[in-house]
Amino acid sequence: MAPETQAGPGGTAAALPLPPMTWDAWGDPALAKPLSDDIKGLLAAALGVSPADGTRPTADEVVLRPSALGPEDVAALAAVVGPEHVSTADADRLPRSGGKSTPDLLRRRSRDPQDAPDAVVLPGSEEEIAALLALCAERRIAVVPFGGGTSVVGGLDPLRGPLTAVLSLDLRRFDRLEHLDAVSGEAVLGAGVTGPRAEELLSAHGFELGHYPQSFRFATVGGFAATRSSGQDSAGYGRFDEMVRGLRVVTPAGTLDLGRAPASAAGPDLRELFLGSEGVFGVITAVRLRVHPVPAVKIHEAWSFPDFATGATALREVEQQGTGPTVIRLSDESETMINLAMTEKIGGEQVTGGCLAVTVFEGTEEQAEARHERTRAVLLAAGGTPLGAEPARAWEHGRFNAPYLRDALLDAGALCETLETATDWANLGRLKSAATEALQGALTASGTASLVLCHISHVYPTGASLYFTVVAAQQGEPLAQWAQVKRAVSDAIMANGGTITHHHAVGADHRPWMGAEVGEVGVRILRAVKDALDPAGILNPGKLIP
Ligand SMILES: Cc1cc2nc3c(=O)[nH]c(=O)nc-3n(C[C@H](O)[C@H](O)[C@H](O)COP(=O)(O)OP(=O)(O)OC[C@H]3O[C@@H](n4cnc5c(N)ncnc54)[C@H](O)[C@@H]3O)c2cc1C
Repeated sequence: MAPETQAGPGGTAAALPLPPMTWDAWGDPALAKPLSDDIKGLLAAALGVSPADGTRPTADEVVLRPSALGPEDVAALAAVVGPEHVSTADADRLPRSGGKSTPDLLRRRSRDPQDAPDAVVLPGSEEEIAALLALCAERRIAVVPFGGGTSVVGGLDPLRGPLTAVLSLDLRRFDRLEHLDAVSGEAVLGAGVTGPRAEELLSAHGFELGHYPQSFRFATVGGFAATRSSGQDSAGYGRFDEMVRGLRVVTPAGTLDLGRAPASAAGPDLRELFLGSEGVFGVITAVRLRVHPVPAVKIHEAWSFPDFATGATALREVEQQGTGPTVIRLSDESETMINLAMTEKIGGEQVTGGCLAVTVFEGTEEQAEARHERTRAVLLAAGGTPLGAEPARAWEHGRFNAPYLRDALLDAGALCETLETATDWANLGRLKSAATEALQGALTASGTASLVLCHISHVYPTGASLYFTVVAAQQGEPLAQWAQVKRAVSDAIMANGGTITHHHAVGADHRPWMGAEVGEVGVRILRAVKDALDPAGILNPGKLIP
């Protein structure tokens, strides 16, 4: 990537510009939408939301902690990657100073000095990454790998641990389709390739990846692998980790090229060590992925179920019978009610309540139709009412826009955040009730009425994930308010058989629950691997491993 402008190491102009992602909000500023006065009135009446104090600082008004790196450090970094690929400019440090969780966005609104990486580097080869890691180990500088910057778990927090400084190591120059094997249905993509770019590169050859997390437009192949991302088409194409056939990783101890064959009995699968490793074991540079031909046909259908339990049973039947939808998801009563309040009529049918489900089928015409018919029969038998294609098409059309609403809600004085977990089908109802009660209880404790919405976002033969969205009035210090709510719901999730994260990963935010997730011996194993691969402890300190 050729930088568009140059700046001296301490200047303010961006030397290493990013795609159009707002530094203190989600996504492309051109797509941001303020709330209408009607919605603001509703929020005030239903949740007691009153406008937030003050205005957001502009990027120029934000005060960043000065870079701790001296000219000699910067010269040493430049000697590895070239001076045009190193910057200590505030304009480069600020957009890489965290991810996109609600706490991240609230922190960006502060007028107090903010933390940021001390420098940004853009290596262009594995050799350069290896040299950077050696240099950072020698100079006691922490390294945070940076993909699309969409972490929602504090995975990009510029933590130094006991080290003297921290670098953001941006992977965006690893931006190529390195290899396509059309016979095997495999493609090797650079870690810095974003979701849309991956689909663009593959579609030129008639293939697609089919990985569509809500952060698709900005997140990268390396980030998907490092966090075990799960896309909305996971019923059809699987989670990202299930698509990974191999990967290359540069660690301080050496470079690994993992995944010799589609399956192997040669001991434990070492790819698994790096899937979900969140930059603490090494820097992923390329991923060999399963790809499939671009589907010829898509069929959409939405459904209504009388209640969540009936709908969840229907989704379980579909998944256990393997009828083959690409997308299948179910909103609970509250989430459906909010969707209805925004749309009134669904596909020409007046729906007054219940739970909305969305299904999508892909393949050749014959495959898509067969999958649709088989799934339809199961959903009908399980008590579903078909609502036609339109609501499912509308969901697909708007699926990447919802995160913009969070920024408008924060601006309007509301607290809005999402979280997710997963469990077995037999435990789904219990976990949903416990998490909902914990969320409502903690929000009520801060004196606030709340909306707690939930949907089943991903299904497996043995269980499903639950995705919660919370909206409430901001009370006092919203960061502290959310921290208390997050603690309560995370404790409830762990006490009721859920995982601390189904797809957002661990980062800094879920780290306190990792001991409960994997047990004491599990933590010791993770620490041992860390010691073997990164003895100086430079890679992403304070993340993942307690
Ligand atoms: C609005 C919104 C919607 C989202 N929706 C989804 C969703 O539907 N499904 C889902 O799974 N997640 C979702 N996420 C979470 C996030 O997008 C994913 O975790 C994504 O996989 C992160 O990719 P990234 O390229 O942005 O990584 P980053 O955010 O840049 O990094 C994430 C973590 O991985 C590490 N990392 C990044 N690249 C590498 C690399 N090459 N080598 C080693 N470590 C690396 C980083 O150090 C960090 O710890 C959402 C986030 C937002 C803000």
